[in-house]
Amino acid sequence: MSENYVYYQGELVKEDDVKISVRSKAFNYGLGVFEGIRAYWDDEEEQLYGFKLKEHYERLKQSAKTVNLNFDLTVDDLCRGTVELLKKNNCRQTTYIRPIVYNDAQDIGPTLDVKDVKVVIYTQPLNKYAGKPELSVGVTSWRRLSNNQLPPRTKATAAYMNSALAALETKRAGFDEAIFLTNGDNVCEGSGENIFIFKKGKLITPPPSDNILEGITRELVMKLAREEMGLEVLERSISRSELYVADEVFFSGTAMEVTPIVEVDHRTIGNGHEGEVCKQIKKLFFGLTTGRNPKYTESCTPVYEK
Ligand code: PMP
Repeated sequence: MSENYVYYQGELVKEDDVKISVRSKAFNYGLGVFEGIRAYWDDEEEQLYGFKLKEHYERLKQSAKTVNLNFDLTVDDLCRGTVELLKKNNCRQTTYIRPIVYNDAQDIGPTLDVKDVKVVIYTQPLNKYAGKPELSVGVTSWRRLSNNQLPPRTKATAAYMNSALAALETKRAGFDEAIFLTNGDNVCEGSGENIFIFKKGKLITPPPSDNILEGITRELVMKLAREEMGLEVLERSISRSELYVADEVFFSGTAMEVTPIVEVDHRTIGNGHEGEVCKQIKKLFFGLTTGRNPKYTESCTPVYEK
């Protein structure tokens, strides 16, 4: 028995009251799109802040539109529902928020032309996602899906079989995480995060045309690097061997936040420890997730009335 509530079809209901059939197409074929969002707890203020809720729900609506899982709830409805849910669950620590839009039709066949679209959101405490402060990663032999296979800018549940295969392979080989290449041999992203390299004073990250998910953290990292650190930031293709000789490599993502990579395919990156650029971006990032940087308060939605 769970005491938790979930947001289901526009209402807050007990988590145990939501049932999903073994026949659901979401379960049978992975026909769904989802998001991963964080809410950051501020101990001093005793306040929880939903982080970039609007951006995540805009991406969710776009994912749903792309795969024909349209639904009526607006971005505003979803933002409001999320705040209500966090409150109802009395979330008083950093929390992960998982919205899923799924095809709940129950006839046989992987079809998307249906009206039976459901929307559910659940919450879960999540402090650190990366198992370690510094990661050793390996390039996986699995390739990232391309735009004409399963559009990567769509955060589709089915695409995470691809991520799971990559993570399985690289974890078995002793690495902490995987890096995907594209079908065209360029560096793409991790199994659930975007990647950056720093080389000769420039911050470089693969462009959307290299089949990445257009990460919300990635966008923020680029903005912080440009506006707060005065760095030149390039979105351009990166080749595998460029990773080996980069001065710094790091991941960005909602769950992964900003996490340094100190080894790629057993090659030491820089001096084998977190680099200065990553360190500074991390500091800027964690300095704004709870509304403490006036320039970025719009990104932070307070949950509790004060
Ligand atoms: N790429 C993939 C495949 C992901 O699953 C994620 C996590 N959503 C990211 C990148 C990072 O995106 P964001 O910063 O929006 O969480």
